[in-house]
Amino acid sequence: MNVVILLGAPGSGKGTLAVEMAKRPDIAHLSTGDLLRGAVKAGTPAGLEAKAYMEAGNLVPDELIARMVGDYIAENASLSTVLLDGFPRNVAQADILADLLAKNGVTLRCALLLDVPDEIVVRRISGRRVCPACGAGFNVDTLPPKQEGICDACGAALVIRKDDTPETVRHRLAVYAEQTFPLIAYYRERNLLRTVDGSGDDLEAKVKVAFETIQ
Ligand code: ADP
Ligand code: ZN
Repeated sequence: MNVVILLGAPGSGKGTLAVEMAKRPDIAHLSTGDLLRGAVKAGTPAGLEAKAYMEAGNLVPDELIARMVGDYIAENASLSTVLLDGFPRNVAQADILADLLAKNGVTLRCALLLDVPDEIVVRRISGRRVCPACGAGFNVDTLPPKQEGICDACGAALVIRKDDTPETVRHRLAVYAEQTFPLIAYYRERNLLRTVDGSGDDLEAKVKVAFETIQ
């Protein structure tokens, strides 16, 4: 297994990019946000612990998410490339990840930063809609479903995520600036940072550039 970390602000489009890239059979996508939302929905002990942090737009404790990611890496050793989307989220998690990878003999190929200006980030998050049934993501501006308000994949009614309200979004952006942004320097210092421009709406073009950049 080798790992590519996706870095970018909430709303940078890294989740959408990852889903698209993972259509290739040799690429897997691990979204820690999805993993946690799944645990909350299923009512597991980890989910019960995570719920309040997530609804407030705060990070869940490092040990909690590290355990979940560690289990995934140990159980999926046969995958060729894993896109890590949402982890690490701070420098402590980056150090934890380095240990996890070393223990499991996994190579970190690079950290891919999806670079998007703040105004675009805010606009994208406010247009975001998700399917509560299957987890598919849409955007009223940039990635509308075929029928308004309805999931293309499964037909369920789309919703706005609880942590996508304007107030919580502002808070998540502040958490990103304070805790996650320093990872850009962290991976740059280790010669692992690669950057792609995420401001355009052409998903296919971004996927192409992303694959070229992580080669
Ligand atoms: P976004 O990137 O749009 O903020 P995610 O779906 O990645 O949203 O994450 C949603 C929430 O899940 C975060 O606000 C946080 O509470 C929690 N979360 C996800 N990944 C992590 C992580 N690596 N460490 C701590 N909390 C996390
Ligand atoms: Zn659906």
